[in-house]
Amino acid sequence: MEDGMEKMSEALKSLGVEPSREMMERFELYMERVLEWNEQVNLTAIRDRDAFIEKHFIDSVCCISDSRWKEAVNVIDVGTGAGFPGLPLAIVSPEKKFLLVDSLNKRIRILNGILEELGMKNVSALHGRAEELARQKKYREKFDICVSRAVSRLSVLAEYCLPFIREGGRLIAYKGPDADGEVSEAASALSVLGGSVEEVSATCMEKYGVNHRIVYVKKVKKTPASYPRKAGTPERNPL
Ligand code: SAM
Repeated sequence: MEDGMEKMSEALKSLGVEPSREMMERFELYMERVLEWNEQVNLTAIRDRDAFIEKHFIDSVCCISDSRWKEAVNVIDVGTGAGFPGLPLAIVSPEKKFLLVDSLNKRIRILNGILEELGMKNVSALHGRAEELARQKKYREKFDICVSRAVSRLSVLAEYCLPFIREGGRLIAYKGPDADGEVSEAASALSVLGGSVEEVSATCMEKYGVNHRIVYVKKVKKTPASYPRKAGTPERNPL
């Protein structure tokens, strides 16, 4: 195993997951395919393999030791891009079901090819804007957890994500150093949409060069039917 993969394996153990051979093979193949596609389509700015493992794989899985993660069954990743954090989470959580959503169809097509090659049975990828998908009965308030990384500030993200989450479920938002500022700014959006901040975690997995802070938002009441607003409105005019 290359150095980076050793680190991945060690990180998983520290999070309470025994890395299987199948998991590690999937991570390797996933990285190879993303880096290959990256030559033609912009998927990630990270080209170095060690940095890829830290910033994409270890960062993505940093919430798996939390009891709130463990109890979830249905998970949606909004604005997944090349599959982060949803696909690494799906690789290490074969017992859960994942839906990866992105508004750029090119990325979803690439992701579907990768999912097939990895033989992932617990994941599907869907093209669409969160504002539109969340209005469909099939997806509305159907998920235990919504994860999202690097999509938008919490006030906007709340409108994209909370409508997908069932009452009692959670948004797990991967945020940067200004997590507290984003939480304050999102206070009115969260209260309108039925969310309540439970915790802003300390930086996780710093040892591995990962410095995201996780914002846990609990869905405490149903989202009013008028949200999310029309595509583009949440970003232009945050609540
Ligand atoms: N989450 C991935 C990561 O951390 O590497 C990708 C982050 S990328 C900066 C943001 C992604 O969110 C893009 O792929 C974009 O197409 C998607 N996106 C932005 N707004 C969206 C929306 N309203 N609905 C669905 N996807 C959206």
